[in-house]
Amino acid sequence: MLQLDGISAGYGGARVLRDVSLWLPPKSVVALLGTNGAGKTTLLRVASGLLAPTSGRLSVDGEDLTGKRAHTLARSGVCHVPEGRGVFPTLTVKENILIQAAGGDVGEAVERAVSVFPVLGQKLGQLAGSLSGGQQQMLALAHAYVTEADYVLLDEVSMGLAPVVVDEIFEFLGRLADDGRALLLVEQYVSRALELADYVYLMNRGRIEFAGEPGELDSDRLVAQYLGAH
Ligand code: ATP
Repeated sequence: MLQLDGISAGYGGARVLRDVSLWLPPKSVVALLGTNGAGKTTLLRVASGLLAPTSGRLSVDGEDLTGKRAHTLARSGVCHVPEGRGVFPTLTVKENILIQAAGGDVGEAVERAVSVFPVLGQKLGQLAGSLSGGQQQMLALAHAYVTEADYVLLDEVSMGLAPVVVDEIFEFLGRLADDGRALLLVEQYVSRALELADYVYLMNRGRIEFAGEPGELDSDRLVAQYLGAH
């Protein structure tokens, strides 16, 4: 289990997360929803070791990893697919996959990436920055599959993409979940995220204001307050 307990965190003097607790059990899909600026990205950054919390505890499978850096969290099975395109644009597709593989077998990594997104197989020698937005996102997402991470943190991975690409990405997320990975999903397509999710947290102004199963989330008030028109 990836576990955040009583986490507070921020940037400089600005406190963003206030006493946040969130659990991502193995093989589960958890949706993290909330208003703009609520702190969702900040929470994912803490969970993957990119940002150290000012208080609270972060643990993975019972091991206290509070304050550990991202590479340590990665070794413990945590993979963060960041907001925006998480690729190196001036490197080729193959070089990006090589970095994702982090010292593992490159041929095998390429094979795994291409098995989930076949289009990447035709682009291996191209610069990642020359791919379409959707293809760049596929390359970023392949990371989660290539590394066989147990806990995958996904920050708005469908943002700004054509509907047909969004379909493909959600299909991939379903496949990752079926494969036994735990997913923590920050997503603007709320209804699609809830279709996949076993559990949902709603965040507002740096605090968790609701935690429960998607079926409990039928209150009009909650929908209006947090989810806007989606
Ligand atoms: P969104 O849906 O808009 O991406 P979010 O829920 O992911 O929002 P965060 O990106 O975590 O929210 O931001 C939470 C707060 O922290 C916001 O007020 C934001 O302005 C602030 N913030 C985010 N990143 C930084 C940073 N690098 N330095 C200073 N403040 C930041």
